[in-house]
Amino acid sequence: MLSNLATRDVETLLHPYTNLDAHRSTGPLVLERGEGVFVYDTAGKPYIEGMSGLWCTALGYSNDELAEAARAQMGRLPFGHLFSGRSHDPAIELAEVLKGLMPVPTSKVFFTSSGSEANDTQVKLTWYYNNALGRPRKKKIIGRQRGYHGVTVATASLTGLPANHADWDLPLPGFLHTACPHHYRFAQSGESERAFSERLAGELEALILREDPETVAAFIAEPVMGAGGAIVPPEGYFEAVQAVLANYDVRFIADEVICGFGRLGTWFGSEALGARPDTISFAKAVTSGYVPLGGVSVDEPLYEAMLAESRKLGTFGHGTTYSGHPVACAVALKTIEIYRRERIVEGVAAKAPHFQARLSRLAEHDIVGEARGIGLIGGLEIVADKASRAQYEPKAGVAARCVAFAQGEGLIVRFLAGDRVAVCPPLIITEAEIDALFDRLARALDRTR
Ligand code: PLP
Repeated sequence: MLSNLATRDVETLLHPYTNLDAHRSTGPLVLERGEGVFVYDTAGKPYIEGMSGLWCTALGYSNDELAEAARAQMGRLPFGHLFSGRSHDPAIELAEVLKGLMPVPTSKVFFTSSGSEANDTQVKLTWYYNNALGRPRKKKIIGRQRGYHGVTVATASLTGLPANHADWDLPLPGFLHTACPHHYRFAQSGESERAFSERLAGELEALILREDPETVAAFIAEPVMGAGGAIVPPEGYFEAVQAVLANYDVRFIADEVICGFGRLGTWFGSEALGARPDTISFAKAVTSGYVPLGGVSVDEPLYEAMLAESRKLGTFGHGTTYSGHPVACAVALKTIEIYRRERIVEGVAAKAPHFQARLSRLAEHDIVGEARGIGLIGGLEIVADKASRAQYEPKAGVAARCVAFAQGEGLIVRFLAGDRVAVCPPLIITEAEIDALFDRLARALDRTR
């Protein structure tokens, strides 16, 4: 029997990434408030928010300083845009701060309101850039199977997950996918991580050659794949891939929407994994998820090309009403100030060994084939048989059941397609809370067995 609020939800809301049929009977989990790493439902039951909302609430819930930063900016200049050369100080200041933080050569910062818009902007800038350079054939973009980059028509095309393509008439032509760097699932018997990385780089090169390098413009990758299964790349992966990209003048876009701002114990995931991208997309933890904000870094050659186009066309024809929204920028500035002042990124690096040790212990469980992670992100691969690594029938919904049992235990973790469970708690989590999280997850796995 659904509560009044739950019934109203079922009658009115179309939920993203939800089994709409199951939702009619199970109804929603309605949350009312949050505090630290905990959220509370309408009955007052606490849950450890083991997913930071959607990989974003890095500073946890009810951070008064962030709320005050938003309130103060709303009281001062609640809206301002950047069109036609207009500006405001929160956007200018934030762009300055980000230029100093991002591990890529950055001439300018372009703001969006989400990760999807950031990656969509990357696609458009890639195309525009190559037109500006007089290379109209160099337009194809390579993503990876199981990669996740958003839901717009272009970014769902970059994404390599079946649910984003099937019956959506996607991917669009010109969007290609290379192999997923998941050693546990796709390495050949006895293949080392390095050998696997070299093989995948070889496959990427073969794809570029097959398509004709003159037509391939960019490659996009998350440092650690999030929605595809919390997949940490094998040793030497980015090194091998970058060598291929450099040979064929293919730009490297790092999608730092999850890994950016401390998740791996470094400011950006690229730094932890030896990736040297040309440009970065960011979102989520830039505001600790408190208000929507995303963006991309623009390097000097790209900017020069935009400048030339502007001289020719009279304007840079891209941007949304909320690009560089002052409230979002003010909250981002405060978020980054807190990351620095509280040494949040260093804190992640210090807590990560404990988090990863507790995560690894779950691999002892019968139905866990692999427990992998880095920093404060982890993934479990649920298997029917550990020796053969065989998976359950998708219809059995075993990982989804584990997530439901976790909820019963007072823990929110996320089910990912392919029978995977992701964990990605707020960066402020304490060691005692990490223990409570994994105790609850272990009990949920026991019940799933
Ligand atoms: N890129 C990555 C790596 C993501 O994880 C996500 C969202 O989870 C996106 C892009 C899309 O961001 P948004 O949902 O803000 O559009």
